[in-house]
Amino acid sequence: MIYLDYAATTPPAPEVTDAVSECMRTLTANPSAAYSIATPARTKMIAVKKQIAAFLGATPQEIFFTSGGTESNSQAIFQAAGKHIVIGAAEHRSVFAAAANFSCEVTAVRPDKNGVITPEAVLRAIRPDTALVSVQSVNNETGVINPIREIADAVKRKKIPFHTDAVAAFGHINIDMTNITMLSASAHKFYGPRGIGFIYIKQGSRAKPLIAGEQEGSRRGGTENLPGICGMGAAIELITDINVELARLKSLREEFLRGLAGSGIAETVSNADIYPGIISLRLPGFPAEKAISLLDARGIYVSGGAACSSSSHSPSHVLISMGLTPAEAFEVIRVSMGRQTTEMKTAASVIKEIYNKSVI
Ligand code: PMP
Repeated sequence: MIYLDYAATTPPAPEVTDAVSECMRTLTANPSAAYSIATPARTKMIAVKKQIAAFLGATPQEIFFTSGGTESNSQAIFQAAGKHIVIGAAEHRSVFAAAANFSCEVTAVRPDKNGVITPEAVLRAIRPDTALVSVQSVNNETGVINPIREIADAVKRKKIPFHTDAVAAFGHINIDMTNITMLSASAHKFYGPRGIGFIYIKQGSRAKPLIAGEQEGSRRGGTENLPGICGMGAAIELITDINVELARLKSLREEFLRGLAGSGIAETVSNADIYPGIISLRLPGFPAEKAISLLDARGIYVSGGAACSSSSHSPSHVLISMGLTPAEAFEVIRVSMGRQTTEMKTAASVIKEIYNKSVI
């Protein structure tokens, strides 16, 4: 089996599953309880917050545990409920859904033809009444890395809070926190458990809780998901050298693309800063759905656009925002690599073979 859908979810590392089960066996008390046996649970929660904060160059008071990327994005967009917001047109569906849920007036900034949201385009969309700007760090379908530092600086000059969905970025690329007001991350995208993540909220920025309750200093209610928190902590411990892994993925990507050379299969984006672990490929004249099932039969697992939207029969809004036609968008598969990916020659030759057999 060759799993090439790390952008949909990363298989939890063995250290993560061990940490989750150890936590469930040993930290059994409710962290909010007053008695002494609850102390280790509280201590662990604080330790993981410190770990995340150290990773980002933030403080533990700025980290709030959530159920993952969708909730973190919702928490961020909630700050601008009923108001005008500027978002990227290629954001994750959860950002659009939150904006609709909270009756925001949305201006969606189209990326350029390479899939990049430019600071100039963001500035053009900002109005005097804009309450929030949200642009993702890395696109989960194309791997395009947005110029977040430049966008954050430009938004800061307008005195508007800036949120970035870093779900596809955290643990994979280096993140510059300068002028970021809020940041979303999700553990199942960096080899941690599903259903746990966090939101960074810059100290001093007011944030109404999306889920009211007493936990997290009344900023996110609900008994904390301690096994998830322990697993996320273990996953963060395993993020050691981002640059080394980026270089490794880059050479695997090159090996894969070399293997496809001359086939007519092409990258949908090539002229942008791209996270090397995600490869968006167009198979001209060949439906992605068919490619996915033929590859599945050969033990190779890829997706068409994002996994979360694979059940819908509408073309990927990300690809459409970049100027692809719906017909072209239906010919795109996403191949995404991760820690267990060691060679890409086999996948390239199987994709090429399947494509050549079906397209004359
Ligand atoms: N944002 C991005 C960029 C994502 O890729 C995903 C997951 N597909 C999410 C948000 C949602 O995260 P979660 O699955 O943790 O709710």
